[in-house]
Amino acid sequence: MPKSKLEAASPFELRVYHGRQVPESDIRTALATGELGFIHSFTTGSTLDGPGVRIVAWLAGCQFRCVYCHNPDTWNMTNGTPITLQRAKEQLRKYRQGLKKMKGGLTISGGEPLMQHKFVIKIFSAAKEMGVHTALDTNGSLGSRLTDEDLEKVDLVLLDIKAWDNDRHQRLVGAPIAPVLEFARRLAALKRPVWVRFVLVPGVSDDPDDVSHIAEFSAGLGNIQRVDVLPFHQMGQFKWKQLGMEYTLGNVEPPSAEQVERVCQTFRASGLKAY
Ligand code: SF4
Repeated sequence: MPKSKLEAASPFELRVYHGRQVPESDIRTALATGELGFIHSFTTGSTLDGPGVRIVAWLAGCQFRCVYCHNPDTWNMTNGTPITLQRAKEQLRKYRQGLKKMKGGLTISGGEPLMQHKFVIKIFSAAKEMGVHTALDTNGSLGSRLTDEDLEKVDLVLLDIKAWDNDRHQRLVGAPIAPVLEFARRLAALKRPVWVRFVLVPGVSDDPDDVSHIAEFSAGLGNIQRVDVLPFHQMGQFKWKQLGMEYTLGNVEPPSAEQVERVCQTFRASGLKAY
């Protein structure tokens, strides 16, 4: 597959200030129209971000401040490279046949993609016209920005549920859990397919009661196809240092295989598929 300036070997490449030259007024227009997006990077060949083999576009901009974030360079939208909707569609068109053959599709992740919801839905609409499967990887808190019609352009939602207890959620991400759960309930009412994603950070997000509540809630929705338990890792730590930000999890070890399995079992005990 051809390389472009936007293509990254991994989303863990540090990228900053690529959109710094874009005037504030142009950013506002871009957000209002969806004709311009700010992308951290894209990767090809992912098998982790939805079914089949996929292209993943990592968008810039996030309103959460997760203590374990491995891509803090995506928080600021102007760290992203500006790309017109037209160019994004052309890029996608190049890959569409391969994606279909590999039973994959396009995943839009971030950052938080719904910071640029108009751009996202316009690309997804184009993808659907090309017959390409679409997946939205989101923290869920801005789900109310999408209309029911918008959601028809999204074949699959990868929904992060980061904690159950609101105080814990606030400490972990700096925002309340309620809008995330509200979006989850709405997706269930609309019968949209969802994969729940849960980041397991030992001593931080692994409270058994909390995990049980997330499992029971998810199982009760009726539209959760699977749960991905994502083990915390330290691959983004260097970014915090380079951005001059305090990183508080420097001494936290990634979970063991047994710890991951224990959490998977909690989800399975509620009747969910968990990996
Ligand atoms: S929601 Fe994702 S991108 Fe945003 S701070 Fe959390 S981990 Fe980072």
